[in-house]
This record gives sequence, structure tokens and C-alpha cells, in this order.
Amino acid sequence: MRRTADVVVVGGGVIGCAVARELARRGARTIVVERGEVGAEATRAAAGMVAPQAESSGPGPLLRLGIASRERYAAWTEALAAESGVDVEYRTDGIVYAALTAADVRVLAARARWQRAAGLRVERLASTTSASPRRSSWRHGGRASRCWSGRRSRRSARGAAR
Ligand SMILES: Cc1cc2nc3c(=O)[nH]c(=O)nc-3n(C[C@H](O)[C@H](O)[C@H](O)COP(=O)(O)OP(=O)(O)OC[C@H]3O[C@@H](n4cnc5c(N)ncnc54)[C@H](O)[C@@H]3O)c2cc1C
Repeated sequence: MRRTADVVVVGGGVIGCAVARELARRGARTIVVERGEVGAEATRAAAGMVAPQAESSGPGPLLRLGIASRERYAAWTEALAAESGVDVEYRTDGIVYAALTAADVRVLAARARWQRAAGLRVERLASTTSASPRRSSWRHGGRASRCWSGRRSRRSARGAAR
């Protein structure tokens, strides 16, 4: 049988699947060609963080793109869940950095400064605040002296690809 399509997407990772979904939504007959298993390569290995604040070393176009993408992520995952019934486990409860040394504290303080100046949310947490399970989990071997939390978005990339 001969199959035709308007667009052939090569690679069934999270990116290929997301592109194919969007194309199909817009009316293009789309085929995904995957040499192995859908979502089994880098998509499966990903830690699942949508973390432009964590992965930027300073303000700029890449950070703006990442933040803009993050702002659209909740709606995207909700649409995926509605269409597929698969919960991609998206959460927005922040990323924690544990500062174990004075040098770590300086690095994180500098990061907090430029992120706040860029209008991003960064929170400093004292090491003594271990009342909640979330906070205690931020400690590293009981030695963490300071922590900062930027907004994190977490998802299962494999779930998104499914
Ligand atoms: C250890 C690790 C941790 C990561 N953690 C994060 C994280 O926390 N947050 C984050 O955002 N990103 C993270 N990433 C990056 C993220 O996993 C990738 O950016 C993302 O999965 C890329 O998706 P992709 O669809 O482009 O690639 P892939 O998931 O690798 O998909 C590409 C697909 O193309 C297929 N393919 C390749 N060549 C062909 C061919 N010729 N014909 C047919 N099929 C082909 C492959 O089999 C594969 O399935 C992490 C990556 C790694 C390795």
C-alpha cells in the first residue's frame, strides 16, 4: 500500500511528536517515521525539567524564549492530557539549589541578583527551615547552608511523547 502525506516527520521523540501533533491540528496530513520506539531515546533519558531559569547563565534572547515557552507549557500539557488521557505530571513548584560552601553561596547570590533584575521569581530559603518535607529534601547530607528556588516546571517528556 502506498502512503502519502503532506509532511513526514523523521524521529518520534518529544520534538518530532510535538511538531507532528501541531501540523495535524492545522490540517496537514502528517506521518512520523521512527526507526525504533517512540519516545525511547533522549526523550526517555530526560530528567523532566522545564527549567529556563536553571539553565541560563544570564539574561538574553534564549532566556526570554525559554520563559515564554514555559508560560505556554501548562496549557500544552493540559491539551495533551485531554486528547490522550496521559498525565504528563507537570508541576510548577520550583527548583532548589543547595549551597554547600561559601563559594556556592556567592554564585547563587549572583544568580539570584540577575534573575530578580530580569523580573523572575527567586526565593532564598534559610537552612533552619526544615519543617516541611519539601524543605528537608533540599538539604544535602544535612550540610546545606542556603537555598534558592526559581520557578520550575516539570514534566515527563516520555509522557508528552506518548
Ligand atoms: C540525561 C539527559 C537528561 C536530560 N534532561 C532534560 C531535562 O531535564 N529537561 C529538558 O528539557 N531536556 C532534558 N534533556 C534533553 C532532552 O531529552 C532532549 O532535548 C529532547 O528529548 C530531544 O527530543 P528529540 O525529540 O529532539 O530527540 P529524541 O528523543 O532523541 O528523539 C529523536 C528520535 O529520532 C529517531 N531517529 C533518529 N534518526 C532517525 C532516522 N534516520 N530515522 C528514523 N528515526 C530516527 C530516534 O530513534 C529518536 O526516537 C536531557 C537529555 C539527557 C540525555
